[in-house]
Order: sequence, then structure tokens, then C-alpha cells
Amino acid sequence: MTITSAIEALIPVLGERLSRSKSDLDLHGASESHFANTPPDAVVYPTSTEETAEIVKICAAHDCPVIPYGTGTALEGHTLAVRGGITVDFSRMNAVIEINAEDMDCRVQPGITREALNTELRATGLFFPVDPGANASLGGMAATRASGTTAVRYGTMRDTVLGLAVVTADGRIIQTGTRARKSSAGYDMTALFVGSEGTLGLITELTLRLQGQPEAIAAGICAFDDMDAAVAAVTTTIQMGIPMARIEFVDASTAQAFSAYSGIEMPAKPHLMIEFHGSDDGVAEQSDVFAEIVADHGGSPFQWSAMAEDRTKLWAMRHNGYYAILASRPGARAVVTDVCVPISKLAQAVEETRTDIAASPIPGPILGHVGDGNFHAILLLDPDSADEKAAALDLSARMAERALRLGGTVTGEHGVGVGKMDYMTAEHGDAWAIMGDIKRAMDPKNILNPGKVVQIN
Ligand SMILES: Cc1cc2nc3c(=O)[nH]c(=O)nc-3n(C[C@H](O)[C@H](O)[C@H](O)COP(=O)(O)OP(=O)(O)OC[C@H]3O[C@@H](n4cnc5c(N)ncnc54)[C@H](O)[C@@H]3O)c2cc1C
Repeated sequence: MTITSAIEALIPVLGERLSRSKSDLDLHGASESHFANTPPDAVVYPTSTEETAEIVKICAAHDCPVIPYGTGTALEGHTLAVRGGITVDFSRMNAVIEINAEDMDCRVQPGITREALNTELRATGLFFPVDPGANASLGGMAATRASGTTAVRYGTMRDTVLGLAVVTADGRIIQTGTRARKSSAGYDMTALFVGSEGTLGLITELTLRLQGQPEAIAAGICAFDDMDAAVAAVTTTIQMGIPMARIEFVDASTAQAFSAYSGIEMPAKPHLMIEFHGSDDGVAEQSDVFAEIVADHGGSPFQWSAMAEDRTKLWAMRHNGYYAILASRPGARAVVTDVCVPISKLAQAVEETRTDIAASPIPGPILGHVGDGNFHAILLLDPDSADEKAAALDLSARMAERALRLGGTVTGEHGVGVGKMDYMTAEHGDAWAIMGDIKRAMDPKNILNPGKVVQIN
């Protein structure tokens, strides 16, 4: 039984929807961050749950690794074919199956992207709130338990996925969850698959909770002389219970990178970007209270607007942040860190991280979804320098240790992939061994995205 024999068995089932072209293999073996290209042996494009089950059955019979793939934006080497095998690209399963406006939920195929779903929802008065910046697929977002700028208000994929259709490692099709808003019916299998990074099953349908489009949205930006003041303003805003829909922090180097990349003038200082959702009066009142908090912490006047075009410009700049930072050091690759700490420890975590990066030989702009205590340092390295790579990985390891010391986690939203495996024992202790037991029970041949999340052989 080999990968080659699995491919031979798949060809009659998939025809031209099985690709071995070099460009396809390279595309699916690539990573957005610093990992080396690690292509699969073939890429397949299923069009239904039943066909996905057929693919998995064939791969299981031939002991061939199966790597589910959404849009490939994951940052910890999640989709690298570290043991070769077949990448299952869900881009052709991208339909909205049903929208239940009265229940505020919908059922979709895994390949639809969050932006495409929101386009489909536009006329319903509803929207899908989870926003990781990248235009990721819903299957990939569920598989990484993604969140992003709006989690402070609407939660993460953990809070948003009501149920799933999943193809298991032996090719069975199972349904987890229902359209009910809560259930006590046994183990929470939906929660088990959300965040499992393709290691326990292939998600072929998702039932998602939706939100009502707010009547009014206001967004704005302000600068601070130092990072402590910005973080203190965030803490005060949270403690006062002001209902923010987004609150994003960028440090002075990130602000410089944003200015150079987007052409929007920003002083080289730490900034906060914030958004409020509600009624016209509500967002105006929240913006005014926030402006007072900013002033109390010595920030620049809070400039806000309820105009859609101003908001779009602001968030486009934020969503392009990763590419703006990469462009600030031409030719660099990035180790993207992602820690999350209790909000009371945020200022300490950010300050210690900043001091650590300043003492290192590489740049590392910091930005984050600070309302959740979640932040990233984008550690920029020369890909030809082993010393710089070692420095970046050391900084990243210290950030992870720091987050754990402060009661947090080594990844708030990006997930484990191959990049965060080394910290799993420190975060979970024996619970990581139990994750391995769950993997062995559900995928005894270890064919589903092997080498990720858990180490079982
Ligand atoms: C510029 C940029 C900004 C980002 N910002 C954020 C952010 O703010 N918040 C955040 O959470 N993430 C962020 N990310 C990371 C990334 O966008 C998320 O991890 C996203 O959820 C990945 O979705 P994807 O469709 O690209 O999945 P992929 O990268 O294709 O896959 C990710 C993982 O999910 C598995 N998978 C994919 N589809 C399925 C399926 N149907 N069934 C089972 N497993 C599947 C894969 O095997 C892999 O393990 C960012 C990435 C970039 C490049």
C-alpha cells in the first residue's frame, strides 16, 4: 500500500479533478509564513460530501495521508504535506446550502470564504461576524478555531459553529450538533472538531450562527505617546463595559509600515483602532465616552466616523497589516507569533515582549486584537540567515513561555500546525497525551493531516 497506489485508485473516481501539476503541488505545499515549501503528491477537488468520503476510504485502504485544505492562509504550517499524500482542496464545495433568516443561522459547504458568505447574506439583514482578516474558508476557520478583529464582541468560531457534517478517518459521514442553540446530548463533538486542524475528520458542511447587521457602525483611530498608555486605555474601556465590536492595537513600527504601504499618514506612534456597533445614538455615545478615555490616557483626539467609506479604508489598512509589515523589510519572511493572556496581564506581556525584541538583532512589529488580550509580533528575518531564524524562533519561544507564565496560551487564534507543537506539553501537560489518545481512537492509521497538533508516532 503506497501513496502511488492510492493516486492510481483515485484517478478513475476524480478524473481531471485530481491534479499532479507542479504549480498545483507547489501552491498547496506553500506557507504564508516562514516554513519551507512541502508539497503533497497530488491535489484533489471533491464536489460533495459523498465524494469526500470515497476519497478518504481509498486513502485509508492505501495508508495514504489526507490533508484537508481551505485557502491555505494558516500561519503555522498547518497544510504542509510533511509525510506526502493527497491534499483535499475544498474550493469547489463553496455553496450556501440554506439560510434560515428567522432563526439567524445558515448551512454552508466548507470551501466558501467568509467574504463570499457575507456577500450572499447582504440582502437578509444578517452577517457572519468572525473576521480573521484573511479571506479564509469557513472549513479552514472552523478547523483552526479562528477568530480575529471582532471576537471581542461576537466570539470565535467556537461560539459560531452550531453543527458540522464530517467525514471521519474510516470514511463514515457523521453529523454533529443541530440547529438548536443549546444541547446537553452527550459529548460535544462539534467542539471536538472545531480546532482539530484536519487531524480528526474532514468538515464537509457547517451550520453557523449569524448576527443581525447593526443599524449604525462607527469606527475611528487615535495615537498615544507610548504603548503603556494605549494598553491602559484598552483596559479601562473593557472595565467600563463599553461594548466594542473591534479594538485593535498597533505599535509605532507597525504604524510606520501601515503609512508606507497604504499611503494613509500615521505618526510613528502606538495607535488604537476601534469600532462600535449599535443604533445611531448608541455608537455616537460610545465614541464620545471612548474619546474621553483616550484623552484621560494622554492620547491624540479620537477621530471617528460613521461613514462606510472611512471604515472600509481603516479596516483595509488593518487587514493588509501583515503584508505592510513584510514590505517594510523587502525579501524578509516572518515568524508570526500569536499569544493571548488575561487582560490584566496584557500590558506586562506586551512590554516584556517589546523589550525582548528591542534587544534582538531583528525587527518585530507588534499588533493585536487587544480586547481579547491577544497580540502578535511579526518577527522579520532574512530567509538566508540561520542566525536571524534562530533569533526569531528564540523570541517566539520566550513569548510562548511568557504567555504561559502570565496565565495565557501559546496561540490565541492561529492554532498549532507544526509550529507550536513544541509548546503543547508546557501548556497542556498530560492533557496533550490524552489529545493523542483521542487521535489514535479516531484515526488509528494516522492518515488525517499527520504530524500536526499531536505527536503520536
Ligand atoms: C494576513 C493574515 C492574517 C490572519 N489573521 C488571522 C486572524 O486575525 N485570526 C485568525 O484566527 N487567523 C488569522 N490568520 C490565519 C488564517 O487565516 C486562519 O487560520 C484561517 O482560519 C485559515 O483558513 P484557511 O481556509 O486558509 O485554512 P487552511 O490554511 O487551508 O487550513 C487550515 C487548517 O484547517 C484544516 N482544514 C481546512 N479545511 C478543512 C476542512 N474542510 N475540514 C477539516 N480541516 C480543514 C487544514 O488541514 C489545516 O490544518 C491570518 C492569516 C493571514 C495570512
